[in-house]
Amino acid sequence: MLLSDDVRRAHLLTLATLVLNRSWLPVHVTTVRRALCMVVRGVARIVAPDTLSTHSFMEWIQLQIPPMSPFIRSPSVRVAIPEVVVLNSYDKVPCHEAPFTRRNLFLRDDFTCQYCGGRCTADRLSVDHVVPRSRGGKTTWDNCVLACVRCNARKADRTIKEAGLKLLRAPRRPRWTPYINLRSAQLLESWQRFVPESRRGGSFG
Ligand SMILES: [Zn+2]
Repeated sequence: MLLSDDVRRAHLLTLATLVLNRSWLPVHVTTVRRALCMVVRGVARIVAPDTLSTHSFMEWIQLQIPPMSPFIRSPSVRVAIPEVVVLNSYDKVPCHEAPFTRRNLFLRDDFTCQYCGGRCTADRLSVDHVVPRSRGGKTTWDNCVLACVRCNARKADRTIKEAGLKLLRAPRRPRWTPYINLRSAQLLESWQRFVPESRRGGSFG
């Protein structure tokens, strides 16, 4: 009996917790064990999934644990599993920069044509060079955008001005980390409001 409890508790500690930065943007997925350590050290606060109120460790253990919610226990306290934590001081994105890849470009532009604003599936979108390659345009974050089939055909090998098109916004290297590996973690319902649909491990053409 004791052994199976230990096994169960050990398993709960390896579940995934979403880490938000101070601006409530997802930056990382960690384990429950590491998330609890951050909260105990005062580096992060636990986000209550229903109310979005944030709690220190001492506040969290005093809350009523909803029925059916997983928790771990020590002889004296029961601790509900934190599904989302928010960092207290970290408002930067993780130090590694987002590499320029087709997948990350789809994530940055959120499957949206940057000319007409139409949202499409990956097979209806292509990577457009704002300054065409034939004019020396580079394949970089600040010269590539997603374009739908129609806008891409309209623009062809011309500049925006020549084609009479406008960009929704100037393309830049994304400030967040587009490639948080959410696929490797089970995506919890409580994470969904923080993670755009397109970053939930959909298919990329
Ligand atoms: Zn378009």
